Amino acid sequence: MPGTYTHKFDTPAYKGEATIHTGLFIGGKWVDPIEGGTIDYNWAASFIRLDFAINPPASILAYKTVWGLHYPGAGRGKLLNKLADLIEKNIDEFAALEALDVGKVFAKAKVIDIGGAITCLRYYAGWADKVQGKTIETTENKLAYTRHEPYGVVGQIVPWNFPMGMVSWKIGPALATGNTVVLKPSEITPLTALKLADLINEAGFPPGVVNIVNGYGHTVGQAISEHPQIHKVAFTGSTLTGRKILKASAETNLKVVTLELGGKSPLVVFDDADIDQAVKWASHGIFFNMGQACTAGSRIFLQEGIYDAFLEKFTAIAHDLAAKTGDPFTPGTQHGPQVSQIQFDRIMSYIDSGKSDGAKVHAGGERHGSEGFFVKPTIFTDCHPDMKITKEEIFGPVAAVIKFKTEEEVIDLANNTEYGLACHVFSQNVNRAIRVAHALEAGSAWVNCAQFTDIAVPFGGYKQSGIGRELGEYALDTYTQVKAVHINI
Ligand code: NAD
Repeated sequence: MPGTYTHKFDTPAYKGEATIHTGLFIGGKWVDPIEGGTIDYNWAASFIRLDFAINPPASILAYKTVWGLHYPGAGRGKLLNKLADLIEKNIDEFAALEALDVGKVFAKAKVIDIGGAITCLRYYAGWADKVQGKTIETTENKLAYTRHEPYGVVGQIVPWNFPMGMVSWKIGPALATGNTVVLKPSEITPLTALKLADLINEAGFPPGVVNIVNGYGHTVGQAISEHPQIHKVAFTGSTLTGRKILKASAETNLKVVTLELGGKSPLVVFDDADIDQAVKWASHGIFFNMGQACTAGSRIFLQEGIYDAFLEKFTAIAHDLAAKTGDPFTPGTQHGPQVSQIQFDRIMSYIDSGKSDGAKVHAGGERHGSEGFFVKPTIFTDCHPDMKITKEEIFGPVAAVIKFKTEEEVIDLANNTEYGLACHVFSQNVNRAIRVAHALEAGSAWVNCAQFTDIAVPFGGYKQSGIGRELGEYALDTYTQVKAVHINI
């Protein structure tokens, strides 16, 4: 049976309690996954439960009767604002759950993850009554106009590295444009989404507008991807899973799929860069969130003139961060553990491969301490483009550094990847900075800065890093379909 779980936090950074409901949140109520339900239920059972979330009395009914085109945009905005206010009221509890679940530093989780989610929901609350079509004059005695209509029920599948951030990026534009939502958090980090469910009721969303179905990807995630009544899936996660979702859509009802996938983003520093700034941003670019960021600047290209100076300062920052590694709930901690043993083992095996392939360790290159899943901020030099650590997404605090001579050479090196999520350019020559930012194949280019997003600015990947854009006004297009209405006057 669905129940509750309370965690008591008695830490230097936060003292208090957080209570969440367990189970599936469907039609505004908590329901059991299956008899004696655990997360590990099978595909057939998850499909039945999912069907319950989609078919009456949950998301389709909500869409057809109270939400969708029935609920005024201003009202949808008001509910999103209310939800943002409620999260803000409970911000410490959310941050504590996020830190507990992911291993994020509590103080950072509060500002970046939970604060960012609040900002995102407010941003899309503002858009809810501004989704507009166009009037098009056509031939004589004819008029046409367009409507941007919601898809109906959309499926949303999110990863573990920014649980609340990704949930807000997904539900914000989907709800603002009038869709109902079936959301699957990562099985590794479900806590804040479960906490959010109670606030969705408290904010006053009609039952069934938001449904949260926990479970594994190969069961619940697959059931979402294959469901015939879901007409759009928005996914953030690995490229491997993105392919499976696209395939499931192709083999079922051709649902629209948007994908935010992995990356191996280049960070290029020219001789004429402000080195202190470049080092500061490059460190943030690769070590932020313990390297578990899709846009991590994990391939660092240094022009030969600044190579030594950059490396010296970069190594010093890595050592400093290693000294501030520890419990996410201890004030002063800057670097926490990786999310799980699987992730920890994966990163350590990449570090081993870097060493055996002949790359040189400048900092880190080993675990921090003897227990827990802490990895020291790691810098490899003498990296070759063919090494695994240079080619594959590690999703950990591991930088691969490569020396280059010319602009042409570095553009080729940087673009030599199947990914295209982000890129970074450091130069004080504005012409060069812009020229190279344009030449690099990526959906986001950061010039003299690294790895941050702004809710108002579109985000998404080139090549195998994704399809479609999130954030900003662009996301509204991915949650609406355009109807053209022709009128004979
Ligand atoms: P993942 O692909 O393993 O899982 C992501 C989500 O997909 C989880 O909820 C999982 O349960 C689900 N899933 C797994 N198999 C599925 C299937 N067969 N069908 C449907 N759903 C399935 O990724 P992860 O390990 O949780 O996250 C790390 C990856 O996410 C990295 O590759 C990272 O680059 C990427 N990521 C991308 C962005 C972006 O915006 N581009 C942001 C964050 C993370």
